Amino acid sequence: MKILFASSEVFPYSKTGGLADMVGALGRALAEAGHRVGIVTPSYRGIRERFPEAKKLDWWLELPMANRYVQGEVWTLEPEPGLTIYFIHQPEYYDRSDLYSNGGADYADNAERFIFFCKAAVHLARYLPWQPELIHAHDWQVGCVPMLVQHQSKLGWGNAPATCLTIHNLAYQGVFPAAQFGMTNLPLEYFNPEGAEFYNHLNCLKAGIAFANVITTVSPRYAREITTEEFGCGLDGFLRDRRTRLFGILNGADYDEWNTTENPYLPFPYSARKLAGKAENKQKLQHELGLPEKAAVPLFGSVTRLAEQKGMDIQLGALEEMLSSDMQFVLLGSGATIFEKGFLKLAQRFPGKAAVRIGYDQGLAHRIEAGCDFCLMPSKFEPCGLTQIYSLRYGTVPIVRATGGLDDSVRDYAENPKTADGIKFREYSARALAKAIRKALAIYQQPDLLKKFRVNGMKMDFSWGKIVTEYERVYGIALKR
Ligand code: ADP
Repeated sequence: MKILFASSEVFPYSKTGGLADMVGALGRALAEAGHRVGIVTPSYRGIRERFPEAKKLDWWLELPMANRYVQGEVWTLEPEPGLTIYFIHQPEYYDRSDLYSNGGADYADNAERFIFFCKAAVHLARYLPWQPELIHAHDWQVGCVPMLVQHQSKLGWGNAPATCLTIHNLAYQGVFPAAQFGMTNLPLEYFNPEGAEFYNHLNCLKAGIAFANVITTVSPRYAREITTEEFGCGLDGFLRDRRTRLFGILNGADYDEWNTTENPYLPFPYSARKLAGKAENKQKLQHELGLPEKAAVPLFGSVTRLAEQKGMDIQLGALEEMLSSDMQFVLLGSGATIFEKGFLKLAQRFPGKAAVRIGYDQGLAHRIEAGCDFCLMPSKFEPCGLTQIYSLRYGTVPIVRATGGLDDSVRDYAENPKTADGIKFREYSARALAKAIRKALAIYQQPDLLKKFRVNGMKMDFSWGKIVTEYERVYGIALKR
């Protein structure tokens, strides 16, 4: 197949979360499976300096945005055979300090920035010499892509590509004042409750859901959850109506990047058969964080966005209660000020027990995954979650709330003692999380059981190669339209 991805972030070029990991890894896996793959993404500040091998295409974009034209360039890179990255270079929109926001406030022109990006992606799909037959759009930033393609096919413009929309997180929909719809230059017939309109606002993700040939989410359980009022973020009815073309496919992990045997970030390589290196990584991490270097004390860790979604309120509550036990905790994260302050205060209250690093640090993320005994992911909701999948491979037992992809990827002792690789709890409360942490402390006292949990997790295979066939099937359905 000939597939063009459109995404506002792609690892290793840009990243704020799991979206970037998924797009980069799935793109590569599809190319390795023999498909022709392109990924179109914005050229953010610093990318061209970090990837000087990128070349400018002889292609000048000039796209209508309401009543003016906006220009842009296209730069490309071929990281491997069959895979081309297309960077949309428009400095006014993308040469900024951050991807979506600055100082906690979204950029005021995000609708304009990403509608332009959608138009650029659709334009590329139409004129690329290799003629993509399907556009795979990811999240609200490219939600308008299926709607723009729909309009092209309505106008009878040659072979319009089929479209697939993946919802990585329904909580982010790209909702803007109605007037911003003008930026699409589409007739108003697309701006109604069956299309891009949401209570007299433009809803970019809804536009994608309305017009995509198929819709996917990043875990089977989340696909079911988003059709319920509790998780539907106001779009559950709209999604229920489209249930027959909604599919849940669990994300994979890029084991070239996330492995414990050949990893430049890890001082001591280790594997399921040679676990000794894990203990050495733990000691080194304790040293790095200024925590007492004690092998006998279990170390719990979190690498996360500090957002309400991630259950940070109950995590703070549970740790407040549990840190008086013989345990240590490390957090690497950034996000909402209230949680940043909350965790910094926690570290002050429990010196020598809790270490908190506010910021974004890829290397430290790997060292925490490797050096910890348990990882905490008490999310309120979780479309897929990658951190727990990495933890499993790193032999770090995940403690997760049984929701979305967390429930799909982790196996609890109560489900099957033989295959258990993590601890699940259901109720969204600090008390329930504290109880799960107590279970972890008990498991830690039983080395054989702990090893079984670790090895079970390390043996799980979430590699993308296997998942590719599921996307091929869904793309096939989209192509039939
Ligand atoms: P989400 O996409 O909702 O943020 P995921 O668990 O799917 O959550 O993906 C999070 C990704 O971002 C993981 O690769 C994780 O290691 C990384 N990450 C999150 N916060 C940080 C941070 N502060 N520093 C480094 N990496 C981080």
